[in-house]
Amino acid sequence: MTPRHFDTLIVGAGQAGAQVAMSLRMGGYAGSIALIGEEPDAPYERPPLSKDYLAGDKTADRLQLRPAVFWAERHVEMLLGARVTAVDATAHTVTTEIGETFAYGQLVWAAGGAPRRLPVPGGDLAGVHVIRTRADVDALRADLETATDVAVIGGGYVGLEAAAVLRKAGKTVTVVEALDRVLARVTSETVSRFYEGEHRAHGVDVRLGASVAELLGDGGRVTAVRFGPGTPDLPAQAVIVGIGLVPHSGVLADAGAATANGVTVDDLCRTTLPDVFAIGDCASHVNAFAGGARVRVESVQNAVDQAKTVAGVILGSPKPYHAVPWFWSNQYDLRLQTVGLCTGYDATVLRGDPAARSFSVVYLKDGRVIALDCINAAKDYVQGKALVEGGIVVAPDVLADVSVLLKAHHPTT
Ligand code: FAD
Repeated sequence: MTPRHFDTLIVGAGQAGAQVAMSLRMGGYAGSIALIGEEPDAPYERPPLSKDYLAGDKTADRLQLRPAVFWAERHVEMLLGARVTAVDATAHTVTTEIGETFAYGQLVWAAGGAPRRLPVPGGDLAGVHVIRTRADVDALRADLETATDVAVIGGGYVGLEAAAVLRKAGKTVTVVEALDRVLARVTSETVSRFYEGEHRAHGVDVRLGASVAELLGDGGRVTAVRFGPGTPDLPAQAVIVGIGLVPHSGVLADAGAATANGVTVDDLCRTTLPDVFAIGDCASHVNAFAGGARVRVESVQNAVDQAKTVAGVILGSPKPYHAVPWFWSNQYDLRLQTVGLCTGYDATVLRGDPAARSFSVVYLKDGRVIALDCINAAKDYVQGKALVEGGIVVAPDVLADVSVLLKAHHPTT
């Protein structure tokens, strides 16, 4: 039987995949489009999963990126609950887990990644959760109805956001971080120590330099976290593991695509296979804002802007990917907004006073502004973007002076 053919076939009905379809239709694309997604849900946003959705302040309906009718009206076919297990780059086909085959003109791989599991005995007990999908959070919330002690393994953004929500819900929360500070991979010591202090002030037991040896269980359900010898077991009826993402690149690698920490793409998000693009959390790309290093960026901004890059190529007006990275995180009443990537910074400047709970850290490399972390400091975030974009040189003592707005350093042209 001849497989159904789509001019553009998108694998992964998430943030990036959905944006490709939206941008194509917005650009007047008349070809057929389908999104194949493993989850049963139409595309939805993940950031609320560790924030308002976990807190019960946002319903599943409000996570949807667009209502169902939007996709139908634009003739974007949704093939949901289907996992692609093979790509044949020569035949231009994909095959799903249940053996269905679809043919494509252009293939967009937007498959995100899988949360890394805790590689210790007991890591797969009932009550041990990750936060990546709506279903993950629904399962976690069901357990939270009875759990009083929650251990969060991993002091990254997802883990800390969850910790904040659970403290607010009255749970006893312990954050277990293997490194000597939280957020160590993504921010400076100043910001790490600030968040550590905030979580402690809200009653979270933050344990640094602590590694989990085992999760203990009873009747197949987690009951406690065990550390190395000499440290008492930590009771936990629910455990949240937030220790990073493994990009979904295996299927494309099997098809012959170059991969290394994700699918290798060029500045138009093209993989090494003909007519196959990769975008979002699974794509490893050279990023000008990381000093030209090859990186994988896990953010809504990157997913959306790479999707727009691919749509541009398919629509016949290619523009290399060159978007200023931005990100946010909400914890308690603190809104962190980041612009740029601080990778490789050689100096930091503190603007404002962490004790006042409103400040920014500016990251410099060779004197140039490469990134800012702004905590309850929206003005710095908005005005700092042009400094990152232009790689502007500003003297540290001038940057530190809060009486001078950052826009005073904007390029004049
Ligand atoms: P995803 O949105 O993960 O979509 C990939 C989809 O592909 C998934 O639905 C998956 O099921 C599907 N898929 C995978 N393999 C296959 C296959 N073989 N066949 C078919 N379908 C497949 N970013 C921010 O900028 N700010 C935030 O505050 C923020 N908070 C976050 C909080 C949480 C809890 C999480 C999990 C992420 C957060 N992010 C945040 C990151 C952001 O959500 C991701 O960067 C973004 O969703 C990436 O989009 P994507 O399309 O690449 O991947």
